[in-house]
Amino acid sequence: MTAIMNLLEQQVAVITGAGRGIGRAIAMKLASAGAGIVGVDLRVEDVEKTALEVRGLGRPAWAYAANVTDAPGVEACAEKILAETGRVDILVNNAGITRDGLLMRMSEADWDAVLDTNLKGTYLFTKAFTRSFLKQKSGRIVNIASVIGLIGNAGQCNYAASKAGVIGFTKSVARELASRGITANAIAPGFIETAMTAGLNEETRTALRKQIPLNCLGQAEDVANAVLFFASPGARYLTGQVLAVDGGMAM
Ligand code: NDP
Repeated sequence: MTAIMNLLEQQVAVITGAGRGIGRAIAMKLASAGAGIVGVDLRVEDVEKTALEVRGLGRPAWAYAANVTDAPGVEACAEKILAETGRVDILVNNAGITRDGLLMRMSEADWDAVLDTNLKGTYLFTKAFTRSFLKQKSGRIVNIASVIGLIGNAGQCNYAASKAGVIGFTKSVARELASRGITANAIAPGFIETAMTAGLNEETRTALRKQIPLNCLGQAEDVANAVLFFASPGARYLTGQVLAVDGGMAM
């Protein structure tokens, strides 16, 4: 069996939102499996920190600033990445935001911000790398959705719609690109300990744990392990799948 540290040898992975949280954990996990890492985030200082840590593992790393909602910016960023790295093998669309509120009070701005970042950002980044995936007749696309996109959540209609959209997008892309050896899969994390969930108070956490059969919130590394699986040679026959990493919450 190939050792985990060599699973992704010679491969390059692009990860959006890699400056912190789940994106950072994905970067470290794929690097520990041998991949070179291209981190993209809003602020280059954030993603440069991740790149430093990746280089500490002895893997090449690049850091780029891009806003995933900005079509010309994404196009330019993808061109620079391909020019610099020569090829990209894995794309992880991870950048995401929440702007929670009940439907009756949800502003159009909060709706648009969440749909633009979570769904349009995933479309823009995937489109930007599709030509090179098609040319090389290989590629692994892993989109970070959410269990909220599967089961919904009061106060998160924008977020749920964006993540359900990511799931439909993933399945369509999987069908479009399968004949060229490219796979597209989604991960639906449950509640994971990151800045996104740091604001939850103890009462909410206790209520949440009651809905989670494994009785705890997940760690960013739990999601990163699932990304590694979809990116690894062992997942070559999987496409269009949605893997819930949620302690059993949505089963
Ligand atoms: P964080 O908020 O900790 O990190 C998100 C990262 O994405 C940040 O670095 C952020 O940059 C970056 N980002 C936000 N907007 C943009 C943008 N427009 N362009 C480029 N980068 C951007 O979130 P998590 O790590 O918790 O979440 C990562 C993904 O996992 C998201 O898609 C989220 O929806 C999903 N998820 C998270 C869950 C959780 O419980 N934490 C559960 C289910 C899904 P900056 O720091 O500058 O804001």
